[in-house]
Amino acid sequence: MNTSILIIEDETSIADVLAYALKSEGFITTHCTLGSDGLQQLRSGKHALAIMDVGLPDMNGFEVCRAARKFTDIPILFLTARSDEVDRIVGLEIGADDYVTKPFSPREVVARVRVILRRHSRASPSGSAHWFEVDTPGARIRFCGTTLDLTRYEYLLLQYLLAQPGRIYSRELLMDAIWHDALDTSDRTVDTHIKTLRAKLKSVRDDIDPILTHRGMGYSVSNGSES
Ligand code: CA
Repeated sequence: MNTSILIIEDETSIADVLAYALKSEGFITTHCTLGSDGLQQLRSGKHALAIMDVGLPDMNGFEVCRAARKFTDIPILFLTARSDEVDRIVGLEIGADDYVTKPFSPREVVARVRVILRRHSRASPSGSAHWFEVDTPGARIRFCGTTLDLTRYEYLLLQYLLAQPGRIYSRELLMDAIWHDALDTSDRTVDTHIKTLRAKLKSVRDDIDPILTHRGMGYSVSNGSES
C-alpha cells in the first residue's frame, strides 16, 4: 500500500507542485484547501503525514494542529512564509514535527517527509502491522493511529479482548471480568457494547472489522498481524 500524504494548503499552485513531487516518489496525496476539511481527513486515520499551510482561509494551521493533536499523533510538517510564524512553530508546544519556509524546493519537502516518516515509525509502534495500541497508563486505545473516544466500559472491554488477540471470549466470561462491579447490566450488555465499539472502529476504518462474532461462543478481536 502506498503511503498517503495529506496536503492542507489553500494555494492550489503550491499544492499541485507538492503533490507532483510526492507522487513521483511513490506517495499518494489528498489535497484540502480548508482547515476544517483537513481535520475531517485527519480523522479518517488513513494518512501517514500531513503537510499544512499556516495561513488557511477558515482557520489557521496552528488551530488545525492543536485540534488534530486531541485525536492523532500523525506527523505534521508546516509550510510558512513568515519568520514570526516560524517562531511560533518552534517556540510553542503546538505539536508540529517540522517546518519548511516558502519559497521551498519540492525535493527538499519530499526529503523532509521521508526523514519524518522514518523517525515516526521508529518512535511509535503504529508503524508495525498491529491495528491497535493500548496505552494502559493513559487508559487510551489507538486504532490505526487514531485515538478512540471510548466510554469506560468500552475501553475495558476492548483492552480485555486485546490481551489475547484471536482468543474467543464468551459473554459470560466478559460479563464477569468487566461488569462484575456494575449495578445496571442485562444479558445484552456485552452485545450492546460490542455494537458501539464496532461503530467507533468503523468510523476510523470502514474497510476492516477487527471484532469477530463466533456464533454461540462469543467474541474475539484481531490485532492485524496474527490473522
Ligand atoms: Ca495560505
